[in-house]
Amino acid sequence: MAFPILPGKTVGIFGGGQLGRMFAIAARRMGYRVHAFDPTPDCPAGQVADHEVVAPYDDLEAAQRFAQHVDVVTFEFENIPAETLQAIAFMRPVHPAPEVLHTCRHRLREKDFLSGMGFPVTPYRAVRTVADLEVAVRTLGTPSVLKTADFGYDGKGQIRIDASTNLVEAWGQMGRPVGILEAWVPFSREISIVCARSATGEMVCFPPGENEHSRHILDITIAPATVSTQLLKQADELARGITESLKVVGLLAVEMFVVGDRLLVNELAPRPHNSGHYTLDGCVTSQFEQQLRAVCGLPLGDPSLLRPTAMANLLGDLWANGEPNWVEALKIPEVKLHLYGKHDARPGRKMGHLTACGSTVTQARETVLAARRALGTRT
Ligand code: AMP
Repeated sequence: MAFPILPGKTVGIFGGGQLGRMFAIAARRMGYRVHAFDPTPDCPAGQVADHEVVAPYDDLEAAQRFAQHVDVVTFEFENIPAETLQAIAFMRPVHPAPEVLHTCRHRLREKDFLSGMGFPVTPYRAVRTVADLEVAVRTLGTPSVLKTADFGYDGKGQIRIDASTNLVEAWGQMGRPVGILEAWVPFSREISIVCARSATGEMVCFPPGENEHSRHILDITIAPATVSTQLLKQADELARGITESLKVVGLLAVEMFVVGDRLLVNELAPRPHNSGHYTLDGCVTSQFEQQLRAVCGLPLGDPSLLRPTAMANLLGDLWANGEPNWVEALKIPEVKLHLYGKHDARPGRKMGHLTACGSTVTQARETVLAARRALGTRT
């Protein structure tokens, strides 16, 4: 396949959630055709794509048929079976490469890779048995946190270990064959940075965002992060170093803890990231357009932040008493509403988000929070 892959060609996206949807919107705006692959009909990305393929991720035949009709394949989540990726990787360019997914979808492989390359990570130990867990707790102390090595997201598969925790029960509760125990990090802030690397090797990072979580789920991101210029520079260098070491083509989101004047890498995601949604309205180029440019081998866009920006997630809980009051929230004119087209508003499910720019991050944050509160107004 000749590079760059130009507008008019077809990009295929595995995974049809909100990240795929916002990618598809960016790609269609730039004149590409988009095919989305997802096990669920009428998925968020399928609703805006030119074509939706509905099949399980392990249906190799469906994946190969899908690949035949696209010019490049990317994805919006890591848990695509390795066999599926292998089956399509020899047919079409797959970005990021399957090896990147292999590393990043498994916390232990990811941490081993990072520490092996000399990047700063939270102290951790591999855990495969209760005996391993006992040794790890003795070594790292309490509090600490036991995490599943795979299939964990939004704090799922995490158990906090205290001095009084029954380790046999904690291990049983985890229910996966491999885990890691991490020392509890007394961080002052959580920041994340999305780095793009193109098929040509060009690399560009977005300004770091600062994240607030609620119930282990991302709640609010503000950008720029309120940390020293020196830490911003450190975050940028770390993200570039990791992206280059992994030879990512596409995006890599790097979550970090701020501890004093140091950064520790918590997690990597080789795709657009919830904490990068602020780029949609806050930056010259959004993370989704950047993903497209990177996987198609186009020059990367300007990541500069136009104004201080805040993003607030809208979870399914907001629907508990009926449809949120959109009109009341949109009375605040600088607020932007992004909804993902999901039908079933379950508690904790990411249904959409709000963004607002302001003259300071504090002001932008207050604006999105006021809008989110307004969604609960009854008329
Ligand atoms: P993760 O799924 O690893 O991103 O964890 C979800 C959230 O749990 C993080 O954003 C932190 O707020 C918290 N967390 C995870 N690991 C640790 C740790 N080792 N020490 C303190 N807090 C943590």
